[in-house]
Amino acid sequence: MGRRPTGRARGGRAGSGQKGGFKEAFQAEVVAEIEALVGPGAVDGLDFEAIETAARRRALALAARAVAQRFNADHSDHRGPTVSCRCGRPARYAGRRAKTFQSALGELTLERAYYHCEACEAGFCPRDRALGVQGSSLSPAVTRMVGRVGAMVSFVEGSTLMQELAAVPVDPKQVERTAEALGREIAADERRLVEPEPPAAPTMYLGMDGTGVPMRASELAGHAGKQPDGSAKTREVKLCTVWTAEGRDDEGIPVRDPGSVSYSAAIESAASRDTDQAPSAFAQRADREARRRGFDQAERRAVLGDGAPWIWNLADEQFPGAIQIVDLFHAKQHLSDVAKAIYGPGGALGPPWAKQRHDELDEGQLDAVLQALRVHAEANDEARKCLDYVTRNQLRMRYPEFRAQGLCVSSGVVEAGCKVAIGTRLKRAGMRWTVSGADAIIALRCCQLSGRFEDFWERRSAAAGAGAR
Ligand SMILES: [Zn+2]
Repeated sequence: MGRRPTGRARGGRAGSGQKGGFKEAFQAEVVAEIEALVGPGAVDGLDFEAIETAARRRALALAARAVAQRFNADHSDHRGPTVSCRCGRPARYAGRRAKTFQSALGELTLERAYYHCEACEAGFCPRDRALGVQGSSLSPAVTRMVGRVGAMVSFVEGSTLMQELAAVPVDPKQVERTAEALGREIAADERRLVEPEPPAAPTMYLGMDGTGVPMRASELAGHAGKQPDGSAKTREVKLCTVWTAEGRDDEGIPVRDPGSVSYSAAIESAASRDTDQAPSAFAQRADREARRRGFDQAERRAVLGDGAPWIWNLADEQFPGAIQIVDLFHAKQHLSDVAKAIYGPGGALGPPWAKQRHDELDEGQLDAVLQALRVHAEANDEARKCLDYVTRNQLRMRYPEFRAQGLCVSSGVVEAGCKVAIGTRLKRAGMRWTVSGADAIIALRCCQLSGRFEDFWERRSAAAGAGAR
């Protein structure tokens, strides 16, 4: 790695002979510790788990001591009596300051050169920048672990996992702060950096959907919602997902290629008015994701979504020429909901009615669907809405035609994407989010689910190293 300034490491490093001596001493100490733990008796009668746990604890403590000694012996971060502060004025050297970091080895107390700027009335340690731990008490490895658990499970569960799996205590509040800070970094990185890739297949799919995430009351002021009094309990997260479907199932129907799915989402507006200079925030997000995946370069492009008008407005504006398809999964669900509204949730006539509509959709008999809906439209609000929906989207519901072209029409990818990327993490019992917190965790999660976390982490480490030079 080119991150380390070459001149720096030399200063505090012991000679090679001493280094070898240190290595042997360290090894000998580990062996002695283990011997002491296991004792002289036969191994078979021992409690394996107790020994491995204790051995890990002791080996880590030993390693932590060795790392702290090594770091603290290196005073090359003392760069003279003054260094330049970010404000441009000189900051004065004010001795070495100790700070305890939570690392993968346990607690490490590191002494670093401290510089104080009178103008800013604040101080800083150049080494913290160099090591990428500025403003944090967590080491890079622990920060990364917290980023992993914070994306997958609740902050309380994350804290438990850190203790259980890594033997590192990080309280839930700190898991939350760290995971959200990382998520905000990722969100900024996502907006800043688009590295276009060639399309992974001749046909590329882009899906869009929205899903409500429960919010704290303070985040909802002024937002209309679906509650009886017109208030809202949720804010809508909009999701964009890109995938390929070159594979075929037993019946020859295109299926989503494993590992081909990427996600990008946020609580953002997709509304754009004719007077707006720039596309909406979500339109820009979809555009970035499309370029990143080479969707815009694909021979054939299909946009899938449910019937929401914002999706098709956005598709018209951002992806003209792409084939528009109402996700068959959504369309069928819509008709099943209408059946329940007409015949009641447990009504015996509901399922056969819905089944017949589903078959008509599959066979491209939209006139039959429309006719069946018209019968109930006057008396039933759901039926009337669905009639509008099918009428409006007829061209996007030519399923037999799409299938004949080898297109994927009902992957459920978009629907599953909302569940996988958003629902399973953000819509669990009792969760209430701020917009900023939800967006951060969504960014963190989408980054990981799209297989982009490693790249992000490399850029982050490289930036920390570059900032230190
Ligand atoms: Zn300053």
